[in-house]
Amino acid sequence: MKSLVENARSFAEQVTARAEEFRALESGQHPLALFVTCSDSRVVPSLITGARPGELFELRTAGNIVPEYRGDRPTGEAATIEYAVRVLRVRDIIVCGHSHCGAVGALVRDDDLSGVPDVRDWLEQAVPRPEMAAPHAPDLAEAVQRHAVTQAERLRTHPCVAERIGAGALSVHAWYYEVHTGAVREYGGDDGWFRPL
Ligand code: ZN
Repeated sequence: MKSLVENARSFAEQVTARAEEFRALESGQHPLALFVTCSDSRVVPSLITGARPGELFELRTAGNIVPEYRGDRPTGEAATIEYAVRVLRVRDIIVCGHSHCGAVGALVRDDDLSGVPDVRDWLEQAVPRPEMAAPHAPDLAEAVQRHAVTQAERLRTHPCVAERIGAGALSVHAWYYEVHTGAVREYGGDDGWFRPL
């Protein structure tokens, strides 16, 4: 924690060197995309994409799960998606899964999550449950990739997303990020494969 506080203390000084760029943020944000990914600390969207402040709107959830839209109760996920699409009018949404994902691993192995009931209940929203032929493969690549595609498709249950896709004003992408190499792959569509970006 100490290093985090020290950096935060001196951050304003670091910003001085980029004063103009930061001052422009006062007038609002115009993000290039909504980036949906796992809460995992090894995944740093701005580092992966090189996005500067104001360029990426983020939604982070355990296991990058996008809950199915339900209009009968508010959720932070639905609000974030709606704001990105209807107010900020992003033209792209990226759902990015990652290697060695604890959440997807727990689902694949069917771990006993009774000690973390909120995690268990949250992960139950990952339907269909990700599976893989070799459940103990450490990187879980296959399961994470399928899961990312499922969550990208789930975005369409949100009316604002379906509407903008229908109007040809929004594209949804599924990515896979390897935390130990930095490699990024994108879902190619019809053949079900992820390819290097
Ligand atoms: Zn994860």
